Amino acid sequence: VISNLQPADQLTVRRNNLALVLRLLHDEGPRSRASVANETGLNKATVSRLVAELIDRGLVRELGLVNERRRGRPPTLLELDGRHVAALGLELNVDFITAIAIDLGGRVIFQRTRAIDAATAPRHQTLRALASMVRQTVEAVSTSCNTIAGITVAVPALVDVDAGAITFAPNLHWSNVDVGSRVASALGSTVNVSVDNDANLGAFAEYRVGKHAGTANLIYITGQTGVGGGIVVDGRLLRGASGFSGEVGHMHVMEGGPQCGCGRFGCWEALVGLRPLLREAVPDVLAMVDAAHTRVGPEEKVAHVVRRAEAGDTRVLAALQRHGRWLGTGLATLVNVFNPEVVILGGFFRDVAPWMLDEAEETMRALSIAPDAGGCQLSVSTLGFSAAALGAAIHTAERVFADPGGV
Ligand SMILES: [Zn+2]
Repeated sequence: VISNLQPADQLTVRRNNLALVLRLLHDEGPRSRASVANETGLNKATVSRLVAELIDRGLVRELGLVNERRRGRPPTLLELDGRHVAALGLELNVDFITAIAIDLGGRVIFQRTRAIDAATAPRHQTLRALASMVRQTVEAVSTSCNTIAGITVAVPALVDVDAGAITFAPNLHWSNVDVGSRVASALGSTVNVSVDNDANLGAFAEYRVGKHAGTANLIYITGQTGVGGGIVVDGRLLRGASGFSGEVGHMHVMEGGPQCGCGRFGCWEALVGLRPLLREAVPDVLAMVDAAHTRVGPEEKVAHVVRRAEAGDTRVLAALQRHGRWLGTGLATLVNVFNPEVVILGGFFRDVAPWMLDEAEETMRALSIAPDAGGCQLSVSTLGFSAAALGAAIHTAERVFADPGGV
């Protein structure tokens, strides 16, 4: 409110107006210059100037004439273009890197995942793999896109968003790593790189394009080696004073529990993360993967659990039920604190949901103070392991809509 009292300078006005026109064409579809002027309240000369600039930047194109039986010259329709602008999103996690590129219409134009072993590999090797994935993605989209709008990198960490740096990533064993500038320097260009927490970007993807898109009070739970939470309250992502909120994986839930990647004992993720599930359900597979230091992605790891659950392996089924109860225990705390409309389980939870979702939901309801858990629905993500990378790409694209002059 205070900043609104200051007269906006001309550059800010121009930037806001460009954003207003682009957003209108994105949200409402093709329309004429006259309609844009009408709906935005800007005068026609200003709209013509803004549209010329957006066309020049490859963000808007003329579609043709409106087919109306009216006298005079029919108006030309404008539409969002953005087919030649790529927004990149990457996720660096403990056992994989995923890259997704979308165009400004939100269409996925490139997607790739590779397995890594960041828990034991030296940090420079993991960062090199990330940089190489970024370069491959840029190269792959450069045939159809002439502009890279920017890059957002999702990491399983406390993130200093302003600095583009990891503050602390327990499962990578990294502290104070300037990921943003490493990626930028690998590209050797002035592409804008930002870094954010994987759960926040996963929640952002769910909020924008997931099954429960637009739900104002939503919690997204990552299902990876770590378990993070992206918390949307009243339609806004909750960040907290330092941007470190949502670290639900480190809620203390079990006195004398197993050790967590953060060094403490009895954290929620030490009970409901992918590793404890493998340890309980398929210890032979975990031992094999650990001993060989092989690069095995999370989907492949959880596939072992799924195969044995399908075959009726009693050890695996019992482990999954216990897992479900511990999951529900933590979820009840989140329900009591945030009263969400829906909790969405991401990552590997999707794959094992058939054998543990009922236990999780029953426990969540039993331990919530509000009747019927405040109406909270427990749901499984349709975006799977790529939610954070997709959220990162959408986040990059949104920056263009906020400031089209930056392209
Ligand atoms: Zn912990």
